[in-house]
Amino acid sequence: MAAAQRIVIDNCAIATVDAGDTEHASGHVIIAGNRIEAVGGGRAPEGLEDVVRRIDATGHLVTPGLINTHHHFYQWITRGLATDHNLFNWLVALYPTWARIDESMAYAAAQGSLAVMARGGVTTAMDHHYVYPEGSGDLSGAIIRAARETGVRFTLARGSMDRSEKDGGLPPDFAVETLDDALAATARTVDEHHDASFDAMTQVAVAPCSPFSVSTELMRQGAELARAKGVRLHTHGSETVEEEKFCHELFGMGPTDYFESTGWLGEDVWMAHCVHMNDSDIAAFARTGTGVAHCPSSNARLAAGIARVPDMLAAGVPVGLGVDGTASNESGELHTELRNALLINRLGAHREAALNARQALRLGTYGGARVLGRAAETGSLEPGKLADLVLWKLDTIAHASIADPVTALVFGAAAPVTASFVNGRQIVADGRLLTVDEDAIARSTRTEAQRLARITAQG
Ligand SMILES: [Zn+2]
Repeated sequence: MAAAQRIVIDNCAIATVDAGDTEHASGHVIIAGNRIEAVGGGRAPEGLEDVVRRIDATGHLVTPGLINTHHHFYQWITRGLATDHNLFNWLVALYPTWARIDESMAYAAAQGSLAVMARGGVTTAMDHHYVYPEGSGDLSGAIIRAARETGVRFTLARGSMDRSEKDGGLPPDFAVETLDDALAATARTVDEHHDASFDAMTQVAVAPCSPFSVSTELMRQGAELARAKGVRLHTHGSETVEEEKFCHELFGMGPTDYFESTGWLGEDVWMAHCVHMNDSDIAAFARTGTGVAHCPSSNARLAAGIARVPDMLAAGVPVGLGVDGTASNESGELHTELRNALLINRLGAHREAALNARQALRLGTYGGARVLGRAAETGSLEPGKLADLVLWKLDTIAHASIADPVTALVFGAAAPVTASFVNGRQIVADGRLLTVDEDAIARSTRTEAQRLARITAQG
């Protein structure tokens, strides 16, 4: 086997986000092939062989790539609608539009979502896709193709809904699948696309949408399917007071107890939101190792409330960050979630002690890797891990007068990305994607958004 080609990055501040939060004011990172070979203070050692590139990263902070743990890519073409609604009213307003999506819309929307995140320092993305209208084509295949072309590491959470209005659910009857179809299609997606290897670029999770859009049987059998296949489980949980009320009325218990009764607590599960959690809910998540995708901007946009992230972290619950779908977070950028997680949690009970800058960075990197089940592979800068990392430029007018680089990144404006590497491959240079044509994607997302609006208006 040929020796791995090396890329040497010198003269940068480094936040490794390893277990000891090791940082270097001026250090080096050596990439060999698709792995991190070395991280340390000072300059890289002289005399390294097979060096194909040297980067002088003066003025930069290098961190692990950002990891997004909750999203709905298709919503990229339904942004800016139902802007003054709570979750349930927003969903009811948007379901009829969403039920019209087809393969080329899903592909364009995935491209838009991925491009914006990747350009902003995301190296691992996920898409919880749960709208599969009859005859809409191979939506999962289109989404995965978009992720491969963008070059980010990716988890497709194959979602589903089978509890419509006629069964007391929230979505209209025409927007859902049957129980059998949903399970069969999910199993097929896992078989076709899930890669269990260390450096996998594509993984699949089983992801029925939420208690109010999914039958108890689909929750149960979905969990059994995921465990039989050895893949992870994802859903929405405890997002709003309305959901809590729905669970009490329909199931006679709160969301966390309902999840427990259907096999949905465990180390292989992560859930979006978890805003309305009491002490015993948090204890149940901690005891079982159930993860949380914290989505502060979306929770604010839909007036859902403030998740108790400091309490979750104190209890030992794994927590990552998510942008959520861009119909409830129009920016779709994860680096702003570092800042919003910190600021919004400080509005809660713990005030200024809620989160600090380093904890926010950890949520967006290592925490995300942990909830996606990939903490051994990515999420921190350590020898042997995959080379997923970002060079943030902090010497421009936006940040140069802030002394501490992690404070500059988290508290300051969105920092320019000079370079982003995924699996040892550079996908962003000076804020532009090297893998796909951003301007072409901007045009196609506009065209598909207009086409969807037109089809919906025709009824
Ligand atoms: Zn969501």
